[in-house]
Amino acid sequence: MDASTQNQSRRRFLWLAAAGGAVAAVGIPFFHYRLKAGASVRLGPRGTPKLNSWEDLYRQRWTWDKIAKGSHGWANCRSACAWDLYVKDGVVVREEQSATYDQSEPGVPDFNPRGCNKGACYTEVMYGPSRTSVPLKRVGPRGSGQWERISWDQAMAEIAEKCVDAAVKWGPETIYQDLGPNYDNGPTTAGRFKFQLMAGGMFADMWAEIGDLNLGALMSLGLAHVGGSSDEWFLSDFLVVWMMNPSVTQIPDAHFLYEARYQGSELVVIDPIYSATAIHADQWLPVTPGSDAALGLAVARHLFEKDAIDHAYVREQTDLPFLVRMDTGRMLREADIKEGGKDNLFYLWHPQQGGPVPAPGCEGAGGISTRLDFEPPIEGSWKIMLKDGQEVLLATIGSLLKESLELWTFERAAEVTTLSVEQIRAFADGWVRAKRPMVLSSWGSNRYMHSDLMNRSKILCLMLKGAIGRKGAGLQSTGFIDLEGFGNAMQVEKDGISGRLGVILNLMTPKELFDVAMDITMKRKTENQVAREGERRFETEVVCYSTVTAIDYRYQGIKEPLAKEEDHLLPRPLAAYHEESTRKGWEPDFPRTGAPKVFLTGGSNLLRRNNLPQYLMANMWDDMELIVDINPKFSFTGTQADYILPAAGWYEKVGIKYTMAYAPYLHYCDQAIQPLAESKDEFEIYWLLSRDIERIAKARKLPVLNGCHRPTDWKTLHQRYSCEGTLGPKDAERVLSDIIEQSSATKGMTLEQLKTVGAARYVATGMNVSPAYTYNPDWKGKGVLNTLTAFTEHKEPWPTLTGRISCFMDHPWFLELGEQLPTHKPSPKAGGDYPFQFVSCHARWSIHSTWRDTPMMLRLQRGEPQVWINPADAGKIGVKDYDYAEIHNDYGSVRMRIKFSTMVRPGVAYYYHAWEPHQFPNHQSFKWLIPGLINPLHMAGGTAQLHHGNSKYQAGTAVQDTRIGIRPWRGQSTGAKPVPARSA
Ligand code: SF4
Repeated sequence: MDASTQNQSRRRFLWLAAAGGAVAAVGIPFFHYRLKAGASVRLGPRGTPKLNSWEDLYRQRWTWDKIAKGSHGWANCRSACAWDLYVKDGVVVREEQSATYDQSEPGVPDFNPRGCNKGACYTEVMYGPSRTSVPLKRVGPRGSGQWERISWDQAMAEIAEKCVDAAVKWGPETIYQDLGPNYDNGPTTAGRFKFQLMAGGMFADMWAEIGDLNLGALMSLGLAHVGGSSDEWFLSDFLVVWMMNPSVTQIPDAHFLYEARYQGSELVVIDPIYSATAIHADQWLPVTPGSDAALGLAVARHLFEKDAIDHAYVREQTDLPFLVRMDTGRMLREADIKEGGKDNLFYLWHPQQGGPVPAPGCEGAGGISTRLDFEPPIEGSWKIMLKDGQEVLLATIGSLLKESLELWTFERAAEVTTLSVEQIRAFADGWVRAKRPMVLSSWGSNRYMHSDLMNRSKILCLMLKGAIGRKGAGLQSTGFIDLEGFGNAMQVEKDGISGRLGVILNLMTPKELFDVAMDITMKRKTENQVAREGERRFETEVVCYSTVTAIDYRYQGIKEPLAKEEDHLLPRPLAAYHEESTRKGWEPDFPRTGAPKVFLTGGSNLLRRNNLPQYLMANMWDDMELIVDINPKFSFTGTQADYILPAAGWYEKVGIKYTMAYAPYLHYCDQAIQPLAESKDEFEIYWLLSRDIERIAKARKLPVLNGCHRPTDWKTLHQRYSCEGTLGPKDAERVLSDIIEQSSATKGMTLEQLKTVGAARYVATGMNVSPAYTYNPDWKGKGVLNTLTAFTEHKEPWPTLTGRISCFMDHPWFLELGEQLPTHKPSPKAGGDYPFQFVSCHARWSIHSTWRDTPMMLRLQRGEPQVWINPADAGKIGVKDYDYAEIHNDYGSVRMRIKFSTMVRPGVAYYYHAWEPHQFPNHQSFKWLIPGLINPLHMAGGTAQLHHGNSKYQAGTAVQDTRIGIRPWRGQSTGAKPVPARSA
């Protein structure tokens, strides 16, 4: 650069900086250059900064009024990170990572520093163009974009009036709240939850709707959420990242994988794309999407063949020694051999006694331990006499499993997965060598029709190695477990101890409480077993939630398309499974009084994430009387609502990031500045709404309403929400303080301390059953947070039918569909028989849709929706890199840019998700092409682990099985095919 160019550059810099100061002076958010009057920068007559030197401007930029501690509240980023927020003149000017973490134990790397590219530019989202700022009311048709600005008073009064009308006409359970994936355990979610519980309304269970629930883990372990701290990864010697991409989706934790590799651990990545994580791997296995179970089964076969299984563990912790009747294909039960015997008491073969003996810890045996005083065989078969004199042949589940695995040679697995035999052998040999194998498997692996089989196969490999519940080994999937204080905060109706007691008595009578105390004292049940029963009652008697099948399937109008997609794959029509499940009371069936009429959403984006939203909009949306989006950001769903209420962003209200998994620290989000413009925090919004509802209910002398699960008197709604007036609208911080005080995991922490340190290490796992079961219950804040040791070390029965890790699903539906043992089933061609499998995944540049229109993030990619394909495929269909193409299937078409990448295997179209529909030409995204198949087995119920519960177990939707075609776009119109009217 010559001198004159240098001078020009310097003048240009000064001009830009001065312009920034002037712009800031009139209030336009050019915050990074906003100047504070005084110091060495003086304003001239027209407000132009006078600088003693150009360096002064730079120095000004690095001054601030205060530093607050913060994080990204309910961003659904799997993780949590401590940030310092720099505030100047009432503006958060930037954020900076804070290295506040300790090493968990000697020899393990620490968590410092934590953060990701999204978090580092949240200020841009917060002050960006899509930020909501004032209450808006729709004045044209829904989706027309015609709004008027209204006051909070008007908004609250009108929304309250409509809620009352709907509750009177259709019942409170038609008032539907979508908490979305953005969920904290602080006052934001507690306020929303509390309003909904007290109003007797219904929640959407988005875990399943999105397809995120790990139902394979639920079937095998009785727990859908499994995972500990990320530094435990470092202790594994064989890390299998199986459908997960931490370098993109768990950026603050990915380093533990690579550090493990530096110390000699082997890293294998299984993914159809050569992902950002795969580039670090020792072995990358680009399987055909949906074929993962075949790979797992070949490994399991190899482990048997090499006798690389942990016999003692398998005998005690798994169901492989359980006995199965060869005539019925079901487990031997007490009812088979004794008059009046139980149907849920199962048997092991006792070699010394030469006959079957009850398995301790199985559901029918009761008891608090799975400890064995003999060694039941894992393989073998015997004949016994049943109570009716019939002789039957018995075999162990281990024998049946081994026989079924015979099919899964390396050659067969290679055919199915399209890997080579050598690749599979190398992988399987890694399993044989491994001392502490660990599988990292994320949400994407739960979104296939047969993802349960895929996950059961992964768990099979782990259990044969005795890895589950062992430190430095096992399954790392999702470890999202609530704090117990949060559960209290959302139910408490009175201040003080009487309010807390009321929460317990709401669930249990004094007699039941006495029985529980006796069960524990007499050692008839463990505390965890009792707590689990309580948790189930909470799920089924307090929280009212809708299922995918109740809402999407019945009211959205996708019954017919799914019948067309699936009926030919099943022995009975899909509708028959749904009918049987509902009739038998397996699946909850809410709302009982008809389709939702009021939809309250926020931190969520239903029309962006739902499958086939065109069906939802044609069949359900227009029938709703009221749709309110409470959100800091304009979302596509908000644009289709009746009211948009501006919620405060993460730096404008108090909150926490609560997950104990990943980084075992409570992360505090301080209120760095007052809520922007007219926005308010959610605790206050629901405080105001409950106040107006109560006022109207009293004026109308509303009778007690038939709320979901229990009666609700809306004349006292606000009284209950505000704990008899002791909580004011600005008391979010007090609610948070209560949550922390009432959670044993945060014992000793105070808000004052958190305001200073930002993140504090948990001191225990908590008293709820989920953390006690999921994490190591002996963990007291020291060491890595490992998992599932209540079962492997304390010998508590697993929360399954057999009290063991279940390889065998003893349920008539599983037998009917041939899935009693893990097996492979191909991915059905959803959406029609088209050449590409359409695989979508989380992006590096956004968390769902929150950062999707952020200029800084858009600059790091191509800035608009795109689909990634292999150039070899592109030649066949006549598209070039960066061309627009039409992506189509039986449901219609959308237009997207093509991106070439040899990282994608041929035959796969890859899509980094969460572009807003309004970022597509005609406001229809790829979701308009995704039928979202439902697996009928996920409607099965009636046994221990197959017990439906909010965010625990229910039918999900499979998106990854979708097929598409791609053709050049030459100006032709795109869009969804007309939606047929829903039949009654
Ligand atoms: S991972 Fe989450 S908490 Fe951490 S910086 Fe990114 S958005 Fe923020």
